[in-house]
Amino acid sequence: MRILIANDDGYLAPGLAALVKACEGLGDIDVVAPEQNASGTSNALTLTRPLSVFEVKADHGCRVRVVTGTPSDCVHVALTGLLPQKPDLVLSGINNGANMGDDTLYSGTVAAAMEGYLFGIPAIAFSQVVKGWSQIDAAAAAARRVVDHVLASRRAGPWLLNVNIPNRADATELPWEITRLGRRHASAPVIQQTNPRGEPIYWIGPAGDAREAGEGTDFHATTNGRISITPLQVDLTDHARCGDWRSALGMAAQ
Ligand code: MN
Repeated sequence: MRILIANDDGYLAPGLAALVKACEGLGDIDVVAPEQNASGTSNALTLTRPLSVFEVKADHGCRVRVVTGTPSDCVHVALTGLLPQKPDLVLSGINNGANMGDDTLYSGTVAAAMEGYLFGIPAIAFSQVVKGWSQIDAAAAAARRVVDHVLASRRAGPWLLNVNIPNRADATELPWEITRLGRRHASAPVIQQTNPRGEPIYWIGPAGDAREAGEGTDFHATTNGRISITPLQVDLTDHARCGDWRSALGMAAQ
């Protein structure tokens, strides 16, 4: 069993170290992570400059390959030349903060897992619901439990799971729920400031609160003390509206 582990918070993030440590004994682990915090970079690939890869020996004793790029760059480079063999599983995280609802479109954590999925490899993205790394070792133990059960289920791949874990000391005891993505309200307005040259600058505002957080959603599961497991797909086609658009544009039905 070969496992590739990546993240989006950067190679020094405690969530990465905890996940690597928790996966000890599962197989041959390769860790490929971004040099800098690349949260919110979604599926971006770096196309305008070359990428460097350097190796560091992390505190957990595992060799980490550090890539001067995005989370998707890390997995892409790993799968297309850096690793001698294709992994059987790609893991991403554990992220510093939730990746629920609309977050999944912006998340580098989900994107790193998705890059594996797009290459035909089963993949799981892990996030802790609250930022700050509290109870990260418990979250990592819970993540390992999910990995063990998912592997034991022997589902034919590729598949992509998005897992959000409440920050609790008893995370390994929490029930699991298969969920759908909720929705967030629009994010807060940009924060405008003035730079030293008197020109306006803008900070992207924080993400909105949950709007669609009813039963069955990832938001609902985690606020009710459950680990949320959402199976994701990549097809963004609005299949239900294809017919409407055909008639709206005067095209023959198919
Ligand atoms: Mn992050």
